[in-house]
Amino acid sequence: MNFLEKAQSLEAAEPVSSRRHLFHIPTGSDGEEIVYFCGNSLGLMPKAVEGDLQAELEDWRDLAVDGHHHARRPWYPYHESFRETGARLVGAKPGEVVFMNTLTANLHFLMASFYRPEGKRTRILSDAPTFPSDIYALQSQIRWHGGDIERDMLVLHPREGESCLDDSEIIQGIEDNADELGLVMLAGVNFFTGQAYDLAAIAKVCQKHDIPFGVDLAHAAGNLHLQLHDDGVDFAAWCSYKYVNCGPGAIAGAFVHEKHAHNTDLVRLAGWWGNDPATRFQMDEKTDFVPHPGAEGWQVSNPPIFSMTPLHASLAIFDEVGMEALRDRSTRMTAFLEECIGDLGGEHYSIITPNDPRFRGAQISIRVHGDAPGLRESLQKAGIVTDFRPPDVIRIAPTPLYNTYEEIARFAQILGERVGAGV
Ligand SMILES: *Cc1c(COP(=O)(O)O)cnc(C)c1O
Repeated sequence: MNFLEKAQSLEAAEPVSSRRHLFHIPTGSDGEEIVYFCGNSLGLMPKAVEGDLQAELEDWRDLAVDGHHHARRPWYPYHESFRETGARLVGAKPGEVVFMNTLTANLHFLMASFYRPEGKRTRILSDAPTFPSDIYALQSQIRWHGGDIERDMLVLHPREGESCLDDSEIIQGIEDNADELGLVMLAGVNFFTGQAYDLAAIAKVCQKHDIPFGVDLAHAAGNLHLQLHDDGVDFAAWCSYKYVNCGPGAIAGAFVHEKHAHNTDLVRLAGWWGNDPATRFQMDEKTDFVPHPGAEGWQVSNPPIFSMTPLHASLAIFDEVGMEALRDRSTRMTAFLEECIGDLGGEHYSIITPNDPRFRGAQISIRVHGDAPGLRESLQKAGIVTDFRPPDVIRIAPTPLYNTYEEIARFAQILGERVGAGV
């Protein structure tokens, strides 16, 4: 059976149907829809976003300041409308999640509370390869506290000849350095390799040693079936423009575990929107900050409505499908991708993403033995969008909401032709 026939039969048998019709699919210069495997970088636009944004513009135009309470979706409590849907996206309880700021900003705000170096416990353990923004954030937090980067950054690297760290190596790294760790900060899904970590197991060892555990979910939110509450992660942050499909620079998410919801001893960088709404406006007479319980207490500013609006359409789609079902479709699609391209590799490339579906999300990363940017470019010319990460990796992310098995088959066929042609 060829790839295309197999793809058609898999789609026909697939219990979780594609929601492709709810998204705008860009077309190439020939007018044909492109094959978009870059939803791990910037997700496609849900069609409903346009109307929702238009409504906000109209309400601003027509209501001005009255829009805070009388817009179709009143702006004052805007963030509250995502309490339930936001929690469902990452396996949290309502109150544990808030949408605010951008990802790296949220990492800083959360680390301000959860990275409190003290005595010997000054080090931050992280995983490599680390995303540049996360490295800068972690290093600057250490400097901010007067620490020493050489001493306080503990980055675990994959063993020689390996691309990924085993969960057991991370756990061992925590055990070995527990007395000196002030924070463990990992990716939920590694941006480079596509590897997913066992957050529950890592959270458990962090708890045993009383080390705060934070997760950057940039590549995990909207991708994995996360269980942040049950896993016992202390805090997490993610952007909403990758798998969450809310557009460039979209508002980010933040999770703070319920166990910290009422801890008023936690130091934080506060602003009025994190204050108890009942006294938020008592500007003259009041000086003491009273945190809103839960994640909302970490908000600093009033919600940026236009950046938040796409969340309505996007989260409605996730809710309709359900994260668990979506992840099942994703697991099957990625397995099909692996099956299609696994045999074509040979001397041309190797797959560096773990082959056990439990340890990866949607994305497959291939290490190209040769001209990786050239290969990506050549795929692009054939109407297939992937991305290149230096020095030699191409990332391919079939996203289960809008990609299809047939696109995977087309991709595999073209990839086979290109590597066969020596590109
Ligand atoms: C995409 C990504 C970011 C981006 O940070 P912004 O603050 O949204 O610009 C940060 N960290 C990781 C791991 C990412 O994948």
